[in-house]
Amino acid sequence: MSNHLNEETAHLNLAAYSADDVFKVADSSISGLSHDEVRKRQTKDGPNRLKEAEKEPIFLTFIKNFTSLMAVLLWVGGAVAILSHSLELGIAIWFVNIINGIFSFVQEHRASQATEALKKMLPAYARVIRDGKEEKILAEELVAGDLVLIEEGDHISADGRLIFSTDLQVNQSALTGESNPVSKTSQPDLDTSKTDLEFDNMVFAGTTVSSGSAKMIVTEIGMATQFGQIAHLTQNMAEDKSPLQKELDRLTKQISIIAVTVGAGFFMAATFFVHEPIAKSFIFALGMIVAFIPEGLLPTVTLSLAMAVQRMAFDHALVKKLSSVETLGATSVICSDKTGTLTQNEMTVNQLWQLSGKYEVTGLGYSSQGDIIKDGKRVSLVDNEALEHLVRFAHLCSNAQVLAPDEEHTSYTILGDPTEACLNVLAEKAGITLENNHKWGPRLKELPFDSIRKRMTTIHNIEDLVDGSQYISITKGAPKEIAERCHSYKDQTGLHEMTDEKLSQILQVNDDFAQNGLRVLAIAYRPLEKENLQNQEKWNQDVLENDMVFLGLVAMSDPPREGVKEAIEKCHQASIRIIMVTGDYGLTALSIAKKIGIVTGDDAKVISGLELEAMSDADLKEALRHEIVFARVAPEQKYRVVTALQELGEVVAVTGDGVNDAPALKKANIGVAMGITGTDVAKESADMILTDDHFASIVHAVEEGRAVYHNIKKFLTYIFNSNTPEAVPSAFFLFSRGFIPLPLTVMQILAIDLGTDMIPALGLGVEPPEKGVMKRPPRKLTDRLLNRQLLLIAFVWYGLIESVLAMGAFFLTYFMHNGNLASFAASGQLYQEATSMTLGAIVFCQIGMVMNSRAANQSIRNIKILGNSVINLGLIVEFFVFLALIYLPFFQNLFHTASLGIWHWLYLFSCPFIMIALDEIRKYFVNKKKN
Ligand code: ATP
Repeated sequence: MSNHLNEETAHLNLAAYSADDVFKVADSSISGLSHDEVRKRQTKDGPNRLKEAEKEPIFLTFIKNFTSLMAVLLWVGGAVAILSHSLELGIAIWFVNIINGIFSFVQEHRASQATEALKKMLPAYARVIRDGKEEKILAEELVAGDLVLIEEGDHISADGRLIFSTDLQVNQSALTGESNPVSKTSQPDLDTSKTDLEFDNMVFAGTTVSSGSAKMIVTEIGMATQFGQIAHLTQNMAEDKSPLQKELDRLTKQISIIAVTVGAGFFMAATFFVHEPIAKSFIFALGMIVAFIPEGLLPTVTLSLAMAVQRMAFDHALVKKLSSVETLGATSVICSDKTGTLTQNEMTVNQLWQLSGKYEVTGLGYSSQGDIIKDGKRVSLVDNEALEHLVRFAHLCSNAQVLAPDEEHTSYTILGDPTEACLNVLAEKAGITLENNHKWGPRLKELPFDSIRKRMTTIHNIEDLVDGSQYISITKGAPKEIAERCHSYKDQTGLHEMTDEKLSQILQVNDDFAQNGLRVLAIAYRPLEKENLQNQEKWNQDVLENDMVFLGLVAMSDPPREGVKEAIEKCHQASIRIIMVTGDYGLTALSIAKKIGIVTGDDAKVISGLELEAMSDADLKEALRHEIVFARVAPEQKYRVVTALQELGEVVAVTGDGVNDAPALKKANIGVAMGITGTDVAKESADMILTDDHFASIVHAVEEGRAVYHNIKKFLTYIFNSNTPEAVPSAFFLFSRGFIPLPLTVMQILAIDLGTDMIPALGLGVEPPEKGVMKRPPRKLTDRLLNRQLLLIAFVWYGLIESVLAMGAFFLTYFMHNGNLASFAASGQLYQEATSMTLGAIVFCQIGMVMNSRAANQSIRNIKILGNSVINLGLIVEFFVFLALIYLPFFQNLFHTASLGIWHWLYLFSCPFIMIALDEIRKYFVNKKKN
């Protein structure tokens, strides 16, 4: 801004200026800047963006992949191998380490780029007035002098001076650390002793609006804002490691330590028991260590999570942290808002009701085609003052705008709340020109809607006299709350005193509408007495929202969203409960809950906010065990519901859009904010953001979360199971005191772990969700990924079958050659053939294993054998790498392998089938037992 003011102390002086002077100084006006001027300022000052924090230099991230405990072990191992005159092995181990490091680096880099890309999909927006028209623009397009509209829940994107405000409260904690909201006004602030942040009429980038609304002129953008000057505050948003990643971190360390211990044991045994030369024993021990260390495990998990996050983004769910993916899979209860999430939030007024009669309203959506009809005839507002007031006042109390379709938008665009937008449409259908209506009753003040009061009020100076008064306040909101505050009513027959009988009639009609799933607003007004007008103190809600005149009810429909019913059905099958927690009226909520299948029984309980307040924690928990709908609850009460559910052991996902939803969003295991209607505050507090506000997207995300968890289990099983057949050959060598030569060399172990196993393992990470994944109950959060069952099945069941087949291949080679097993050649062609067979048998068993792992606990007949292209590629690579290892002379020398004959091949080709057949038998019995 100082660029435009040419004054050093621009913002200091601005606080003291009047609104008119602020416009002058900023070279702006009440209709905002012109687009030409905006372009000029953008070219001059650049975008409203903070400079990116300096990231860790890429070479440091690269180097880190070579300094983990695992890597250090391999460096040392390689060095000692070289010192023990096994140059090839030493180089091979180092080579493995380098490949592994590069692999980890590339995967992590890809994962972090994927999350970076997601952050960019969440742009910040601002509402501005330019060339006299309201627009929604990207916050980074703001320039100094822009006229910006802010309201409850908004994130403020630039520093600014307020020129108009209504009960504005701002949370400045990001700048001051003070978490209580501070009040702001647009009045000049002449106090020169204040610091910048203390001015009542200045607001700052990086803060959020807690309540109220305002207009501001942008004074500073980008790095020149207060926030920009301390930008580093927001830039240390290091990604936390997920519980799963931490568990794997810990596990890799444990396994590395176990590997070294086992290696040391084998070293001792080989030296003192088999009396091998020290160098040879060492190489042998090294084999054990290399066999056990799960190279590549961590980056594969990270990548698998990151890919799930990307897939979810396509399905309209932006997950902010990788760790949320795991939690999503365990979700057992979804507490969902109604309006916009389960329903379309496309309001159309269907009926009007006054105490003298009922009217139908025709027409669909936001088009102004339609009429108000009574007894089959179009109704005119002329001679029907009560109806005219109902329609006129409803529109005057609306803040929304309906923009007709144009070149850019094929359908109507709503600025503001659809509940209010349909009131504009209603007025148009009644023949009222909106612009004229605004001129007829210009607005002087607004008491904004809040979801606790469930109503809003505006004050107007009207052209005609209403009940003898030139000033009125108009209140609209929840019918019960409004009708009870009215001392009289107006209908076609005139103005009458409100009686108990009339009041119960109003409430009855409201219930009838609600039972049909309609959302109902009541409209009332209050003529303002002169003395109240003069006394601004009296323009408060206690005065204005009492002793009103009841005009009528406006009933609007909001149809369920497409696909919601199916998504709810899916949840039921997956044993996920859905609890509707809405601000709307109980009967409306229940009717919709029944329509879309959330409530299936007849004895579902509807608990209102008031009842909830009176309930003890124990009663609430008891109520939560049954079918239940929460209606008329304030957002703050969601927090209590979430807490109670969590105490009952549930994993809770909760949706929210407003500022007051923030505590519940934070408290939930998965906070879900609405991307379209959600406030910035809600989005900041959430773990996941729905870009289409659609309930079905939550269900998709849960399904993905479950799939990821299963996939990680699948590849852990796959990676671990080959450890056993890699270790067993050494045990044979050891326990035979060297009589049986080493059936699998260290180099060959390396060839499996980092050659043939790598791509199929990655492929398991991208398996699509299993068919039955949403037909099972959710897993418990306490379920460990690496439980005893997984370890037993990987190391013992699969591991032992593979070991038998591998050792069988080794012995068979000698037997076929000698006719007996009396002696073993410890070197030469026969030995190389035999070790090639051990290697081959493991490689081919792993082909069967990848299919077994894909099917997990179901029969392999349930999966598409060629359905995973990464695995298909992996198997082809695996096969050719093996061919190269045994047929290319260079590799034959390096890996001590030899070419194989026809019966060898027959044996190898049978291995995957044996693996699959045996596992099918196991699965058959396991599944039989389960059923
Ligand atoms: P959900 O919490 O499921 O989104 P909701 O949108 O109906 O439901 P709120 O926005 O808290 O919940 O609204 C609660 C009630 O307040 C509504 O039922 C309606 O009676 C009233 N209301 C909603 N919007 C307005 C508005 N703009 N002006 C006045 N009253 C409103």
